[in-house]
Parts: sequence; C-alpha cells; structure tokens
Amino acid sequence: MPTVVDVFLDRPAILTAFAALGVSLTANWGAGTAALFDVLSGRAPVRGKLPFDLPRSMDAVKASRPDVPFDTADPLFRFGHGLERIRCDGTGRSCPCGGAVAFAGSHGGTRSHKTWVWVSHRGGCRGGAPLCGQRASVLRAAVRAPTVEHEFSCPLSKGTPMTDAAVRPKKPATNTRTPAGGAPTAAHTAAEAHEPRIHVDTVTDLLLGTWAQTRREAREMIKDPALWKIEGLTVADHRERVFGQLQILVDNNGSRRAFPKKYGGLEDNGANLAGFMELVLADPSLQIKSGVQWGLFGSAIYQLGTEKHHEAWLRDVIELTLPGAFAMTEIGHGSDVAAIGTTATYDPETEEFVINTPFRGAWKDYLGNAAVHGRAATVFAQLITGGVNYGVHCFFVPIRDDEGNMLPGVQSEDDGVKGGLNGIDNGRLAFDHVRVPRFNLLNRYGDVAADGTYSSDIPSPGRRFFTMLGALVQGRVSLDGAATTATALALHIAITYAGQRRQFDSGSGSDEVVLLDYGKHQRRLLPRLAQVYAQFFANDELLRTFDGVFSGRTDTPDERENLETLAAALKPLSTWNALDTIQECREACGGSGFMADNRLVGLHHDLDVYVTFEGDNNVLLQLVGKRLLNDFAKQFKGADAAKLASFAAKQTAGKVFHGAGLRQLGQAVTDFGSTARSVELGLRAEQQHELLAERVRQMIEDIAGRLRLASKASPAEAAAIFNANQAELIEAARAHGELLQWEAFSDGIAGISDPGTAQVLGWLRDLFGLHLIEKHLAWYLINGRLSAQRAASVSKYIDRLLLRLRPHAQDLVDAFAFEPEHVRAPIASGVEQERQREARAYYADLAASGKAPVSEKSLKKK
Ligand SMILES: Cc1cc2nc3c(=O)[nH]c(=O)nc-3n(C[C@H](O)[C@H](O)[C@H](O)COP(=O)(O)OP(=O)(O)OC[C@H]3O[C@@H](n4cnc5c(N)ncnc54)[C@H](O)[C@@H]3O)c2cc1C
Repeated sequence: MPTVVDVFLDRPAILTAFAALGVSLTANWGAGTAALFDVLSGRAPVRGKLPFDLPRSMDAVKASRPDVPFDTADPLFRFGHGLERIRCDGTGRSCPCGGAVAFAGSHGGTRSHKTWVWVSHRGGCRGGAPLCGQRASVLRAAVRAPTVEHEFSCPLSKGTPMTDAAVRPKKPATNTRTPAGGAPTAAHTAAEAHEPRIHVDTVTDLLLGTWAQTRREAREMIKDPALWKIEGLTVADHRERVFGQLQILVDNNGSRRAFPKKYGGLEDNGANLAGFMELVLADPSLQIKSGVQWGLFGSAIYQLGTEKHHEAWLRDVIELTLPGAFAMTEIGHGSDVAAIGTTATYDPETEEFVINTPFRGAWKDYLGNAAVHGRAATVFAQLITGGVNYGVHCFFVPIRDDEGNMLPGVQSEDDGVKGGLNGIDNGRLAFDHVRVPRFNLLNRYGDVAADGTYSSDIPSPGRRFFTMLGALVQGRVSLDGAATTATALALHIAITYAGQRRQFDSGSGSDEVVLLDYGKHQRRLLPRLAQVYAQFFANDELLRTFDGVFSGRTDTPDERENLETLAAALKPLSTWNALDTIQECREACGGSGFMADNRLVGLHHDLDVYVTFEGDNNVLLQLVGKRLLNDFAKQFKGADAAKLASFAAKQTAGKVFHGAGLRQLGQAVTDFGSTARSVELGLRAEQQHELLAERVRQMIEDIAGRLRLASKASPAEAAAIFNANQAELIEAARAHGELLQWEAFSDGIAGISDPGTAQVLGWLRDLFGLHLIEKHLAWYLINGRLSAQRAASVSKYIDRLLLRLRPHAQDLVDAFAFEPEHVRAPIASGVEQERQREARAYYADLAASGKAPVSEKSLKKK
C-alpha cells in the first residue's frame, strides 16, 4: 500500500530520513486533512513550489553561511521543486500521476520525483491526482493526527460534479479579475485543518475574567430590546429613551454594586465595573449615562464625601430619584483641572459656600445630565476661606427643582448634537453666587470648620489634589474595559462576515474566495484580534488591582499609585485601538459596513470621545511617562557602582505584570543569522518580552539623560527641555502600556492546561508581540536592537502566524460569547452564508438543466 508522509513545513526541515524510506512526501503550510485528501484524490489542484532549499543534514546547515542564500551543500530538494500540474483523466487507474510521478518513492522512481505540494483547500479537478482510485496510508507529521488509511476516489470517475466545476469555466481562470493574483484558500475552520484548536468555552471563561458571572448576568439583562440603541432616533427621543433605560438598570440591581449595603448597595467594586462595561453592547450612550449617574456623580458623593453625605443622598442616587451631573470640566480648563476658575468662597456669617462662575471660560461644560435630567451636580471649585485658596474641592449643588426648572442663580445650556453618544444630555452650567450650606462640601480629604478654619489629613496641596482625583479612577478603568468589549464586537462582526463573504475567483477556476483567505484581509483583522485579546487580559488585571484598592484589601499609597498608572497607561491604548479597529472592521465589511444596521459606524461615532474624556489620552500618557521617569530616578538615586551592578543583576525577563513600575532588562539582543533561525530562536516569547521591555527602558533612560540638564537650568529653560522631550516621553509611556498588555496576555495564557487552547493562544500572543515589534521596527533598527535581516524576519513570521491562525479565527471571535441579541448586525447573522448557498444552488441547477449560456470566449475558441 502506498504510504504518504505529509509534513507541515513551517521551516526548512531535514527530511532525508523520510526520503530514504521510499515513502511519498508531500509538504503543506497549514492545510487541513480534508484539504490534503482533496489534493491526493485530485479534487483540488496540486500547486506550489518549494520556497527554500531543504538541507540534507544538520552538518550541512552548520557549514552554511547564514547570510548567503541557498548555501547548504547538496540540498535534498532544491528551491523551486514541486509537482507540475497533471490532468486527471477521470478513470482512476490511468491517472498519469497515480504512481509514475507523485509516488516515485514507493513505486520505484527516483528521488527527483518527490513531491512538494502546496495544498489548497477545495477547487475543481484540474491538477495532479496522485492517488486516484487507490487506497493509501497517510501520516500527517507534526499535526498530531493519527495515521489513516483512506480510499481515494477519483472525482471524475465516481462523479458527482462539484458545484463549482459546473458553474466556473472549464479552463482555469487567467487571474485577470483577481487583483491579488488569486488567493490560495486555506482551511476555514480548525476542524477542517485538523489542528489543535481552542476550547471555546475555556477561552470565554478566560476572557470574561475574574467577574465572569457578573458579566454574564449583565449580558442576560441587555438581551432586553428595551435597552438597545435604535439608530436614527432624534436627539430628544434618544435622550429620553436612555434616561428610561437607567430605570431598567435600577430595577435589575445594575446601580447598586459599587455602593455600601447600608444604602441599598452591594459593595462589589470589581463586579460593578465588569457589569457596567458590558452595557456598551446595548448602547454606548446607556453605558456612559449610567457612568455619569453612578460612576461619577454618585462616586463623587461616596468617595469624596463622608457618612453624613452618604446618608443624605446615596439612596436617592442609587434609585435614580436624584439624577445628577459631575461638573469638573470648564470651557477653559479640561485636562488641567487644578486651574479651573469656579470658586467656592466660605461665608462664616451664614456658614455657607458661595459658588460662583467668574467668567465665561469658567462655565462647566460637556457635562452629562446637565442639559435636561440633572437635579443636582457635584461641582469642582477652588475652595477659598479666610482669603486663602486651598485648591480644588468638590461641592454638592442642587441645580433644578422637582419640575425640572433651574434653581435661582444656576444657568444651563444644552451642548446639542454631538459626534456620537447622543442619548446623553450633555450641557453647560454656570453659577451666579449660588449659596450652599457648609454641609455640602464633600469633606473626606479637606474640611472647613464653622469659623472658616481649613483642615486636611493631607498637608501637601498637590498630594491632596491628586488623592481626590485618584478616588475617581474607576472611570478610566471602566472605559478601558468598555472600549475592549466594543472592539471585540466589531471584530466579531467583521471576522464572521469575512469568513462567509466571497469576492473574486481564486484564479484557478475554483470557487470564489472567502474574504478572510486574502492575505491582506488576514493582515487587517487578525493582528487586531490579537490586540483585543491582550486588552481583555490587561483589563482583568486592572480590574483586580482596582478591586483590591477600593475594597480596602490592598489600599496602600503604592498600590493606589500603581492603579492610577496602570489605568492611565491602558485606557489610552484601548480607546485609541477601538477607533482604529472599528474603522478597519467597517472598511473590511465594504458597503455593508457603512450601513447603520450593521453597527460599526455607530460604534465608531459613539466611542470617538472615549479617547478624550476621563482624561485625554495624550495627557494620561504623559502622567505615565513622568511616573516612569520617577521610577528610573529612584532606582539610581545615591547608588554607588556596586549597588548599580546588583540592581542590574536583579532585573529578569521573567517578571510579569508586577505592578506598573519601570521594567528593566539588561540582556543584549543576539542576532541569530539566518532568517529561519532568527524566527525560531530570536522571536520567541522571551525575546519578544526582551525587545518590548528594552524599548521602554532605553527610551526612558535616553530621556532621563537629556532631562538631567534641566535640574540645573532656570524654570523657563527646564520647561523648554522637558517640552523638547515630551513627544518621546509619551511614546515611551505608550510602549510601557504595550508591554503591560503583552505581559498580561502571557500571564493569562500561562496557566492554560488544554494543549490546543494553549497552542493557539500562544500563536495569538506571538502575533500580538511581533505586530508590536513590526510597528516599531524603525526604532529597533535605528537603535541597533535588530539587524536588518532579523527585522525582515519579523514580518515573515507574522505572515506564518496569520496562516496558522486563519482556521481559528471564527473560534477566536466565538469565544467572545456574544449572542445574537448582543451582535444585532445582520451581516454577522449568517445571512451572507445563506445568500452564498442560494447563489451556488442556483448556478448548479442551471448547469444541471443544460440551459446555462456558454461564455463568449468559448465561442471564439471554436
Ligand atoms: C461627550 C463628552 C462628555 C463629557 N462628560 C463630562 C462630564 O460629565 N463631566 C466633566 O467634568 N467633564 C466631561 N467631559 C469633559 C472631558 O473630560 C474633557 O473634554 C477632557 O478632560 C479634555 O479637556 P478639554 O476638552 O478641555 O481638552 P484640552 O485639555 O484643552 O485638550 C485639548 C488637546 O490638547 C492636548 N493637550 C492638553 N494639554 C496638553 C499638554 N500639557 N501637553 C500636550 N498636549 C496637551 C490634549 O491632548 C488634547 O488633544 C466630557 C467631554 C465630552 C466631549
């Protein structure tokens, strides 16, 4: 019985031993068993040429010069080796390829007939049919599939014609309609590929993370159509709809999780944010409006106030009988909150604060709930008592009566139509000497006695200010998660569609190509899929850090600082990525992507402002950069040479996600010479980590070196020096965030026991890491961290990973576990698959009827 050994040749392997056995050798690049059988039986064409030499021995490899192509002596098979197309005549036995060519080894031929086949999935019977009508034993090396005996029927002799053979021209297409020159179709599912595959439910559990149960409950709740966004509503209707939806959240305990049990809360901080993030699937306006009510307005009362304030207002906040605005930003000052103009001047005579907006630029602006629904606001203002400005503090200020009329001295303007999130009534507020009782100062971090004396447990004004702002960090944590969930939804839609939609034939006369089989489509979507996986893992780390601090379990100044730095590093990356990915998904779906029904344009509009609010992304990254610089300085402060040496020795590549501080790695990058060996040895997980971490370290070190001059300069000169380095500092902070995501991804998959899941997610993590390195390739080259040769291997390795991951793409988006009520995009509902099936059935029937028109070209040839 002929024996076929099929080798997964992801690199030049030494196959000399197999060749000596006289078996038939085929090679593939990630083809599934079904696809291989298609080729062996002649159902699909035999194609492909060996893209490199296969060396004869390891000694030959060692003797070769790494920088010289085709330098291994006497290779077993030469570059370009491959089986020519041979027609199957349909009789089975007389297939010219049936033994004479393809199976020379087992049929007494010569070595030169060994076959290199790039197996393509599906296709008409156009090429060689090596095993037509034969029974053979097939061993798939390195694919962990058992050896099988298989009877290869000849598709032409046994005959049901493939649909495609009936509807496509008999002659292979010449490719003129296929701009990419045809796309070899790959296995479309992991099942087809017979490869290790992920266990989808296991991956869902990993992605849903620590608060999976809460997320599932939230997803159950938002299956209710009453919570869904309706595209095209008027602004007024959308606002009222979303306000009504908040009450549904209240009825489902969605407003309680963050607050103390005493006031009707559930005291579960992590769960609160995890559940809240899921609302983005229903309507981002609902997510943000509920964030304003409970995450900002309610949180300011809870986090910045004390028990008397909780007693007075928290129940009504939770129940939504007291809707409120969070009034921090002013027209003139958004990122620089410390410089706001609103004042709160204490009047000891009446024991009141006088809230005042002194000029137009001090109007509060962009505030959710301010234009229509808010009854009160937590107003940030400069606290002045006894003629001294004690800096920004927060005050509870009623703004409307129960009928919705503005209270005396309070003015409001409507922000009107926005670029997205139009279910929220954003607006402006101004105060003309509005008096509130002393009680209304939210006094957890600073208080004023009846006589006007100011007191605080935090003597440093700067630290006090940042402590207050830090108490409101949850907004950033939740935006990071919500942006991640929305991005995952966009990828679910685009990848599902790309796996069903066909466009252009493959150039070999076979079926039209599924979009996701195009190399460019894989390049566009799969690295972004890897990115969002990293974000899920990083957000869960962030959530756990947040929960630890806010539950009090790990509430130390260091942990708070870590939490703030983590949030400031991750929120910018995920919100920027949301815009980038949603837009790419939109384009990847062509015209359908632009239809509001398919949700991508709406998501893009709504998530646009996530990069600005809760801290503008560039400003946040600057904070991270400063923290990195501080860490850097601290590590070397007063250190002598011995200390420095021991410091360097302590830096290890194995440290993962150990807080937010600066990573240090001293190891130099070694170049491994040849591309293949670079890929194998130089770009594995440890090297990815090393390259990413080294980039952060070197950037910070370089900036710190340049800023050293500032310590001896005048304030103006120092500011100029800092400014000259600002862009690079922000870039270093971004690199730090990327490193954190990579580490979180690696941590997340470290404990996976299912081998298939571990392998596929390992590839996905590698794709994430290499994609980052490719993105920053210029930096690595300029800084001598990668040789040109090794840099070139990065993109090649990415291409290999894309091919490996392609069959798993649907599994990987299925693992997001979005149900139809969450997706609600017709193009991802299976409707495209059905359309394709219908079209094929139509052409098949037409061909069978014998009434199909012949092509004009075929007439000319007669
Ligand atoms: C829809 C919406 C809802 C909002 N909801 C609320 C709310 O409910 N409550 C609330 O208080 N606020 C809210 N905001 C305000 C939001 O938080 C601010 O817009 C944000 O903080 C940015 O402030 P800004 O608009 O003044 O921009 P600016 O701070 O003026 O920034 C403008 C640009 O300058 C850049 N920049 C600023 N400073 C620096 C620097 N030092 N170095 C380099 N670049 C710099 C920024 O990166 C940004 O690109 C909302 C805003 C929007 C749009």
